[in-house]
Amino acid sequence: MIISIASGKGGTGKTTVATNLAVSLGPDVQILDCDVEEPNAHLFIQPVIEEAETIFTPVPEVDLEKCNLCGKCQEICQFKAIVVIGDTLLPFHELCHSCGGCMEVCPEKAITEVGRELGEIERGHKGSLEFVHGRLRIGEAMSPPLIRKVRGYTRPGKLTIIDAPPGTSCPVIAAMKGADFVLLVTEPTPFGLHDLKLAVGAVNLLGIPCGLVINRSDMGDDRVRTYAEKEDVPILMEIPFDRRIAEAYSRGDMIVNAMPEWKEKFQGLYDRIKEIAG
Ligand code: SF4
Ligand code: SF4
Repeated sequence: MIISIASGKGGTGKTTVATNLAVSLGPDVQILDCDVEEPNAHLFIQPVIEEAETIFTPVPEVDLEKCNLCGKCQEICQFKAIVVIGDTLLPFHELCHSCGGCMEVCPEKAITEVGRELGEIERGHKGSLEFVHGRLRIGEAMSPPLIRKVRGYTRPGKLTIIDAPPGTSCPVIAAMKGADFVLLVTEPTPFGLHDLKLAVGAVNLLGIPCGLVINRSDMGDDRVRTYAEKEDVPILMEIPFDRRIAEAYSRGDMIVNAMPEWKEKFQGLYDRIKEIAG
């Protein structure tokens, strides 16, 4: 079972839900923090990191001695990442999506692969909970390849909780695709509703069942609830605005540690997810 925790908008409490859910469930659980631009699940889980590895993606390097400037690599590249300019050829590694097309079509075999650093992956445990997160290199623009590498540590047979990046663009899709269930975390504000609509649209496109957690549920207005009802998105949990929750968060503590009665609520949330996901 893979549950991806997502939110159209940042700052809704997605990581709070992901971490509290992960620590509330049984021993065969892993959490993958795929919010690689700003991973913060480790601040709450506080895992012991046992392994770290630097992740690279292949990009082209051109041997200008062999290149005849035919331009076939430029023609196939959809990202303008390799360009013939005058009497030379320039690869732009930061634009390259590592599709390998230019290497395939080069008649002179002038292109070889070199690695562009994407970031690093750290792995560890907190008790029986397995922890994995990715950290995108500062200046790196493309996070989906690193997210896919983090997801490569998904273990069949375990319950996998994914902390997805905020938004509705490629990184989120990389963190949701192939999940059994998407749990959307939102807040009952006009901004929350606006971004929730986009997130529900993305989840529907992927054809994944989803449900909703409303954070700070006693603030704002009822428009999120009305929308959820209209779109048939079940509201699985509401977390009220509670000073004790805010204080725990600001200490880097989890709700279930500060208020143990919440553990049962997160277990109930998982039961409802299982029912819906079948
Ligand atoms: S690997 Fe793909 S994206 Fe990168 S330069 Fe070659 S054709 Fe373009
Ligand atoms: S396809 Fe090969 S030979 Fe042609 S321009 Fe590109 S690198 Fe040079």
